[in-house]
Amino acid sequence: MTLKVAIVANQEPQTLRVLNQLYHLLAEANIPIDQDQPNLVISVGGDGTLLSAFHRYSEHLEEVLFMGVHTGHLGFYTDWRDYEIEEMVQKLRDETLTSTSYPLLEVRITYTDGQPERRFLALNESTIKRGNTTMVADVYIRDELFERFRGDGLSVSTPTGSTAYNKSVGGAVIHPSINAMQLAEIASLNNRLFRTLGSSLVIAADDWLKIALQPSGDYFVTVDQLDIPQDQMAAVHYRVAKERIRFVSNRHMHFWHRVQDAFIGDIEKS
Ligand code: NAP
Repeated sequence: MTLKVAIVANQEPQTLRVLNQLYHLLAEANIPIDQDQPNLVISVGGDGTLLSAFHRYSEHLEEVLFMGVHTGHLGFYTDWRDYEIEEMVQKLRDETLTSTSYPLLEVRITYTDGQPERRFLALNESTIKRGNTTMVADVYIRDELFERFRGDGLSVSTPTGSTAYNKSVGGAVIHPSINAMQLAEIASLNNRLFRTLGSSLVIAADDWLKIALQPSGDYFVTVDQLDIPQDQMAAVHYRVAKERIRFVSNRHMHFWHRVQDAFIGDIEKS
């Protein structure tokens, strides 16, 4: 495969230093830059930068491989550190690229006023929240009513997104080889009148979720870092997407090693 590389980067000073070196090394290796029709997208920055890169090229997932360089700590979507750029470009030049793919979340929003539904893909998660009043929503699994949720909101995440917002609201960390999505509650109200399961749920790839909203204008929906305009929403539908994101896997970082590195760190052996 002849490589055509697009680069997505944040504006941190350390990133700008790495970018200079990266452009120089790619030119030396005769690997062209093509921001419009790449087959390899390199993100330089953090996991947030990789999320932006994903959304920029999410219409081209069949053709595009992703690769992440982290200019800070080790990330979840970023296998390479800023000081390893030379080795990375060497691999691009010398090796046949292999890939590993991860599940994505399909988000479909339907509306009460007849406007066409909208579809999005999330790499981390989608959340539904409401202004400063309690959010009330009916949660359906397949087409069966499962519970009426009351609280601050709901988060539905992918396995790779399970270490992000999902983890902060008490969801489980899920290995990305599991093709599933996870529904987690955000501060649910549970008392004698209102009852929800109270724990997060892992939903299989052949099931789907529908979150039916009450007629009110002040819900808001996020898809990763994006805020979705929310007028007249009837329901948000979630399922594991048929599309997947593919990463270059010539260097494989064990998922549990990343989790340990990010959240626990060194342990003194007794
Ligand atoms: P941000 O608010 O600037 O950064 C959120 C943090 O989450 C960054 O430290 C980012 O890592 C990290 N992160 C992103 N994806 C991750 C993943 N899959 N696993 C573990 N950590 C991850 O927002 P952003 O950089 O644009 O990223 C948007 C994401 O932030 C959302 O999808 C959501 O998951 C997360 N977020 C979390 C909370 C929370 O935990 N309370 C609140 C808002 C948003 P880097 O430093 O490597 O970029």
